[in-house]
Formats: sequence, C-alpha cells, structure tokens
Amino acid sequence: MKTTLIRGGTVVVGNSVSAQDLLIKGERISALGDLSDFLPDETIDAGGLLILPGGVDSHVHFNDVFMNTISVHDYYTGTLSAAFGGTTSVIDFSNQSPGSTLMSTIATKHAEAEGKALVDWGVHPCITRPTERTLAEIPAVVAAGAPTIKCYMTYREEGLLIEEPDLRRILEGLHVAGGMLLVHAEDNELAEAGIARYLESGRTGPIYHSESKPQSVENKAIERAIQLVREVGGRLFIVHLSSAEGLNMVGAARGEGLDVLAETCTHYIVLTEDMLHHEDGLKWICSPPLRDQETQDQLWKGLQDGRLLQVTSDDAAYTWEATQLGKDRFDLCPNGMPGVEPRFTLLYSEGVAKDRISLSRFVELVATNPARNFGLFPKKGTLLPGSDADIVLFDPTTRWTMGQATSHSSNDWHAYEGVEVTGKVQKVISRGEMIIDGENCLAEMGRGRYLHRRLPGSENKG
Ligand SMILES: [Zn+2]
Repeated sequence: MKTTLIRGGTVVVGNSVSAQDLLIKGERISALGDLSDFLPDETIDAGGLLILPGGVDSHVHFNDVFMNTISVHDYYTGTLSAAFGGTTSVIDFSNQSPGSTLMSTIATKHAEAEGKALVDWGVHPCITRPTERTLAEIPAVVAAGAPTIKCYMTYREEGLLIEEPDLRRILEGLHVAGGMLLVHAEDNELAEAGIARYLESGRTGPIYHSESKPQSVENKAIERAIQLVREVGGRLFIVHLSSAEGLNMVGAARGEGLDVLAETCTHYIVLTEDMLHHEDGLKWICSPPLRDQETQDQLWKGLQDGRLLQVTSDDAAYTWEATQLGKDRFDLCPNGMPGVEPRFTLLYSEGVAKDRISLSRFVELVATNPARNFGLFPKKGTLLPGSDADIVLFDPTTRWTMGQATSHSSNDWHAYEGVEVTGKVQKVISRGEMIIDGENCLAEMGRGRYLHRRLPGSENKG
C-alpha cells in the first residue's frame, strides 16, 4: 500500500491542536506523531498549514426538482464544488416521488452519482407519501444505510407536507428501526396564512418572503415536533434551525432528556434578511428565511454553547433565471442558494478568525459532529488512526474575496459575492488520494462512494 507522510503542519484532533506528522497508508490514516524516521513513498510539506478532517456536509440538494425548476448542482458539479471547498462527504436529500417506493429514493441517487461523484455521498430519503406501504419500508431503508428520513412540515402545494398523525407514525417507525427523523420545521398553516396576507395586500417583493414567515412560524413547528418526541420517544433532528426561540426550545428539550438535535446553516450565521432588500434580493430567498442581526448573534451563541451541533450548507443552487419565477411574487421563487463550496472557509473565517469559536470547535461543527450525528463517525470527521484519510490542508492566514470569479460552482451567481474571508483550502485528500491541489482537480469522475450509514446507539434496536 502506498504511504504518504504529511509533515510540518498543525494537526487538529479532538481538543488537541499540535505540530505532528500524519501518515496515510492506502485509503486510511495510519499514524500521528513524530514520524521523522519513517520513509514514505511520498512526502507532503505542510509547513504553516492546518491539517484538518475533510468537511462533512450532511445537508445538500443535488438534482432537486422543486418549485417548477431543478437545482443546478448534479453529482459532478456539486461534488466538484464541495471538493474545492474542503468537503469530502456530502449527504443529499432524495424525495419519494408519487407512486414510488421509499427504497427507490436511494436507487435514484445511485444512478445520479454513478460516473459523476468526486467525493463520498449518502442519502436522506424524504417521505412524501406516508402510506402503510411506505411506513413498512422504514426498516429496509435504515438497513440500507440511509437511517435518517426527512419530513417537511410545510410545502403543501409542492406535495411535500406531512401532517401530524403521519409524522407521529414515522417517528415511531424510525424509533423502532434505529433511525432518526429530520424535520423541516415551518408550520404550514401559519406559513400559508402569512403568505396569503402579504400577497393580498400587494406586498410581493423578496423582503416579504421573510416578513410573511416570521420566527413564530418556525417556532410553532419546532414546538409541535418536540412534543411528538415527548409523547412517542425517538430521535429528532431539526434541520436548518434559524430562530432564537427555536434554539431555546431545543436547549430545553435536551435539558428534559429528550433526544432532540439541531443544526444551523452557513447563511443564517453570515447573512441577514437585509439581503432581501437588494435589487437582486430574490437570490437570498430560502426557508426558513434569513433573520435579523440579533437572531444571528443568538445562533452564534448556540454554536458556542452546544445547543447547535453543526453547520451545514443546505446547498440548493438555482440559476438567476430560475429565481425570476419569483419576480412578481416572492412565493414563486425557488427557495435556496448555493453554499456547499463556501461553507468550510466561511465558518473558519467568521468563526475562528473572528474569535467566536476555537479551532477545535470549528472542526466539530464542520466535520466531526455531522459525521457523528449521521452515522459516519469515526470513518469520517476525524483524523484518528484507522479513519478514512479525508484531509484538508488549510492555509489559516491568506485573505481573499469570495465570489463568482473564484468559485468552482456551476451556478451563475454567488450567494457571498464580495465577502472578505481569512483562510484558504490548499489541498484536499479523499481516502488517501489527492483530489484538489490548489486550482487543480485531480479526481476521477465517479470515484465517490456511497456512504452506508449506521446511527450511534442503534445497535440495541430491532
Ligand atoms: Zn434543505
């Protein structure tokens, strides 16, 4: 097996940040420490660089058919963008199409990834048709390595809404099977009523997307979802949490001993709803909507004190042309923005470089915790010997400007255009193979593998 020694860098493993050598043997990390006596096949000089685990982004939407359009990133362009951004594992959402099985959501993604994926990928099936037959399939998808099923508590007109009695049955089914329920928490009734009120009064511009779905819409859904866990047990994960009160509810639920986890996304901790006032404000329509500065500050608190466990991108790239579907009505604009590439560096820059979080906490939020929460740890998300050699060599000091000119995304606009950042991904290694070296992608299309996941603590369940 080929051996590669990374020398002279600062390695971050758990709470330890120290100058160490790191040895890769084949696809895995083989040793850490002073390895100056070792004679490897290849040596990489990492002087002045941080040696970090490859990012794990457990929230992306590739090839997502949504709101009369389809997301721009496919398994080639999406994973290319991920790789350049320092992310070596992605988990993608796959909606059950009407009339088809839940197992087919995994098969669909295998077909999409084949011959295209550059990094490893996994699937969260989304239930859209909660029939008896679908519910009976839950143990099979858990066993197939996709134990995390998402349900939408809104988007009725998109055919995605799951009503409460069904949500309860799905949570129960996942609990028994050793899976976890993910919810998009926005209360459909409140959301629909809010949107209708704004449209009727002629308030149709992008900012009204935010105003029509205030934090109370999200809070109501989070409250209902937590109540379900209180009643039936099971593990609940709230994706893209963006509200201050919701954050408090998650903290309280965990204090009660309930198995309730939550993440936030890059855009909620970097951008505010002010973006929606811009002439091209449609670009920043996402759900839940961007919030105000005060809420953003609370989300950073949640990242610091552990109520929020991870930061994902919710990458959902739509072209400028597609956003124009909403030019006369905010509610017709496809919700979402590209983010799989900027996530890693933005979190470093806004978090570590601005002294909001430690380097170790950054690694937890960007890699370790998503791997842990979604059944990939310790294969992914850490640099411990035995783990996959998914490694980012990161320059912590370079300052540069994000935007279209330096992006590797296939989308035609950038959500963080002109944002000044500190820190830059220099090299990316995936399972022992150098896939990104500066501006060069060395990865062969289709090399990415399916991530068969198993949740921690699920061993005792049926
Ligand atoms: Zn999403």
